[in-house]
Amino acid sequence: MQQFQCYIDGRFSNGEARFPSVDPATGTAWAEMPESREADVDRAVEAAHQALHGGGRWARMTATQRGKLLYRLADLIAAGVPRLAELETRDTGKIIRETSSQIAYVADYYRYYAGLADKIEGAFLPIDKPDMDVWLRREPVGVVAAIVPWNSQLFLAAVKIGPALAAGCTIVVKASEDGPAPLLEFARLVDEAGFPPGVVNVITGFGATCGAALTAHPKVAHIAFTGGAETARHIVRSSAENLASTSLELGGKSPLIVFADADLESAANAQVAGIFAATGQSCVAASRLIVERSVKDRFLEILAAKAEAIRIGSPLSMETEVGPLATERQRRHIETLVAASLDAGAKVVTGGSAPAGEGYFYRPTILDCDGTSAPSLDKEFFGPVLSVISFETEAEAIELANSTPYGLASGIFTQNLTRAHRLMKAIRAGIVWVNTYRAVSPIAPFGGSGLSGDGREGGLAAALGYTRTKTVWLRT
Ligand code: NAD
Repeated sequence: MQQFQCYIDGRFSNGEARFPSVDPATGTAWAEMPESREADVDRAVEAAHQALHGGGRWARMTATQRGKLLYRLADLIAAGVPRLAELETRDTGKIIRETSSQIAYVADYYRYYAGLADKIEGAFLPIDKPDMDVWLRREPVGVVAAIVPWNSQLFLAAVKIGPALAAGCTIVVKASEDGPAPLLEFARLVDEAGFPPGVVNVITGFGATCGAALTAHPKVAHIAFTGGAETARHIVRSSAENLASTSLELGGKSPLIVFADADLESAANAQVAGIFAATGQSCVAASRLIVERSVKDRFLEILAAKAEAIRIGSPLSMETEVGPLATERQRRHIETLVAASLDAGAKVVTGGSAPAGEGYFYRPTILDCDGTSAPSLDKEFFGPVLSVISFETEAEAIELANSTPYGLASGIFTQNLTRAHRLMKAIRAGIVWVNTYRAVSPIAPFGGSGLSGDGREGGLAAALGYTRTKTVWLRT
């Protein structure tokens, strides 16, 4: 079995215990991971605190020097794509095509924040006192705890580590216990890039022990969390003791609205990628199709044909288009929710079951939920299941789109851009994609509202979020 270590204070270690990691394509353990508990968490946070406040090299670096380290890290990631991608695929089941391309743009995120490090400016305030000069300095917020789920770990960590380091913070990253290999391997690149010890620490372990100890640590100033809403509630409660600030990126039940005048072929391609990419384990998965009734049957026919043509198989093969779910627990959750939705009157258009054989696979599934209040319309599957509902008027489409407590992403397909403008204002979501879906860029902020959390990752604002202003008054 392959062995992995955690990275604390510039040193690799085995953790306080070890746990097996399962390959979701086969259902068998393939690697052994370090399990960090309270003592490791404490060492990691102390190391991060010392690196920031102990008067060492990191705190004395200029922003430009920090940027250079981030550029070096980006280059190492770009050169390490094949290895990192293979590990992520092995440990989480995400297909190699997706891990390879996503990790390549993870390097771009680090480059973006490398370039931003020396552009985080303070200000001079023109106050109404002739004998006073007043400045705003932007200083790092402090030690950051970054907690990520299993899907897209390198990406979800990059959108925290990049801006936090650009801002001068230090960080303890907790990889998900479900597939931590890519982040633990990433720590080797951090080491090779030459960051001073303690600036970036990477640990893993279970939520109730490792995660809880990290979020309750009194020396953590800010918690950047991506994961589920229930965990977010725990985190907010445990951070309340120290009044650490939080940034929460949670789940979604994102609508894709297709009007009759849309280019149906292009909308269908976006819908298929929107729901079946990453086997549906994506926070922005377009999991609710809201389609104009007059084209519903035609559109479902196109969609079903595309879904049935998807190649399911080994995530390590470049031919595979949909791999397994990350865990057995995740597949059980999907099976339970599909069964409850069928009980509520939903009809299977295609899929609706797991294929025979080993691994945690589930067929790309489309459920027609018209005229029902099936739970699949407002519960997050985090799997390859699309729920379909139809509308007749624009107002109805908007009402349906806004009918969940989530507010992360949304898509609109129409040739009528005036209508697209009206919808883009009316839809409650942090991201609106028009005639496209799932486009991302380091420059464009990403995040939601309601049960999808309050954080914004990407862009300049994310880096500013890792700073606090200090107001300096000088009598002249
Ligand atoms: P999860 O909330 O169960 O776990 C996420 C992380 O939190 C893991 O590292 C886990 O160990 C840790 N954790 C669990 N309990 C904890 C506790 N009490 N204290 C501190 N940490 C704890 O989420 P998951 O099931 O791994 O991931 C799926 C969820 O993540 C979905 O809801 C998905 O939509 C969401 N997600 C959101 C985004 C986004 O950017 N908005 C991106 C990806 C995933």
